[in-house]
Formats: sequence, C-alpha cells, structure tokens
Amino acid sequence: MDPLLSKIEALAEPGCYLLTFALDTGEDRELVIRMRGDEPIVPAANSFEGWTPGSRVVTATVAAVRALHQARQGSGGAIQRLLDVEGGWDVGIGNVVLSADGAPTCVGHGELTAAEGGVFRCGECGAAARYAR
Ligand SMILES: [Zn+2]
Repeated sequence: MDPLLSKIEALAEPGCYLLTFALDTGEDRELVIRMRGDEPIVPAANSFEGWTPGSRVVTATVAAVRALHQARQGSGGAIQRLLDVEGGWDVGIGNVVLSADGAPTCVGHGELTAAEGGVFRCGECGAAARYAR
C-alpha cells in the first residue's frame, strides 16, 4: 500500500515543509521538502518504502506542498521580497514597509521612488530598500 500523507506542516525556515506519512505498518514517517521558487527539492536519502520519485504518491504530495507554499507566498510572503540595500537597515528597523497595494513605502514620507537596479528610495529622508516584484 502507498504511504498515506497525514500532515503537512510549514517549518519556521521559509519554504520548508515537514510531511508526515502513515505507513501500512502502522508507523509514521517524516520527510522535509524544501521549495526553491516553485520547484520542490525532494529528498531521497531519508525516503522510505513507497516513496519513489515519479510515483503517484510523490507527484500528488509535491502538488499539495506546492499549493500550500504558493498560498503562503500570497499571504505575507511578499514582505520577504522587500530587502535592505547593501549596508542599509531601513527594512530591518521598519522604516520601509510594503503598503496595502504592495508598494515599498517610507513610514514617514509615503511611497518610495524607483531608482536603478530594483532599488527604491525615499526622496525626503533617503530611506532605501530593494524590492523584487
Ligand atoms: Zn522617508
């Protein structure tokens, strides 16, 4: 019998998911899948009987993890795309946040202006952030 997926848990590390399978022996097996972008990195080293890359259970499991991952990206995951510029700290200390419409915004002065190289800068105070849409 195929291992039965009983639980998917998002770990604290972004893009990491802990899966629990119930085996027909009555045992539970755990497996961590790491998402790189939309592509899962499926471990083979700690795999178990019935966990064969390309099999129905693996394909279905990967689809479930990908769906969960994408749902989490859509809810607050965007904040991870707002990053400090080299040597800067405005994002880290909360000077620059994403507005409700997803625009990089200075908390004191409003929306940042796009500069070169994906960097956004506040015309008033110079607060800066990198933002990848
Ligand atoms: Zn500002």
